[in-house]
Amino acid sequence: TRTTRPQRLLRAVQKNATRNNPLSVISAIDDFCRHREWAMNVGDEKGFILDSVVNEVSPVTALELGAYCGYSAVRIARLLPPGACLITLEFNPDYAAIARQVIAWAGLEDKVQLVEGASGDWIPRMKEHFGIETFDFVFLDHWKDSYLPDTKLLEECGLLRKGTVLLADNVICPGAPDYLEYVRKSLSYESRFFKSHLEYTKAEDGLEKSVYLS
Ligand code: SAM
Ligand code: MG
Repeated sequence: TRTTRPQRLLRAVQKNATRNNPLSVISAIDDFCRHREWAMNVGDEKGFILDSVVNEVSPVTALELGAYCGYSAVRIARLLPPGACLITLEFNPDYAAIARQVIAWAGLEDKVQLVEGASGDWIPRMKEHFGIETFDFVFLDHWKDSYLPDTKLLEECGLLRKGTVLLADNVICPGAPDYLEYVRKSLSYESRFFKSHLEYTKAEDGLEKSVYLS
């Protein structure tokens, strides 16, 4: 029977990564995607930039938009300080099921709350449902035309505070031009571009880090 790419990615993790060892899970996925099948994880090159921003912020409350197979959730969650938590949203139930198993294989299920559903439905419910006051860090990596409306929704819902760091992937490839223009022109953000390459390729891409000034 035919398997899906996320299922094959999970099998590569189960075969090649050590349980409760997040770095081995990250390497197994990067190896699979570089040598077997490309997949839309943030990847290792941009992953180092993601790591350094997460380390700098050391968030207690973190939000990820778009979990896919859980690769970036593992990258982020392994760096969180004790007691911190990452909420990650994924609206595709097949991807969410894989992500849950990848996160559990890495031993990070206590730090990650994977929520199955659409960002537009869940962002307004974060306060009542999870008791979140504001997020310290938000990783935007879902469909690119949702970056801007969801950022405005986060603002409207009072989920950003002075100093909240937004990090947006793929702002060049596939690109999120309306989002980039917004965070770069708005006086509410201090924004900076980190040049890199599309995951597992040489195509130009990068991450935009935007600090909310309120
Ligand atoms: N962050 C992941 C990583 O680096 O390992 C990759 C995420 S992938 C690029 C984008 C994911 O966002 C897809 O799995 C897609 O199903 C999900 N997605 C897209 N729009 C969404 C939305 N509005 N709400 C929730 N999930 C969404
Ligand atoms: Mg991405």
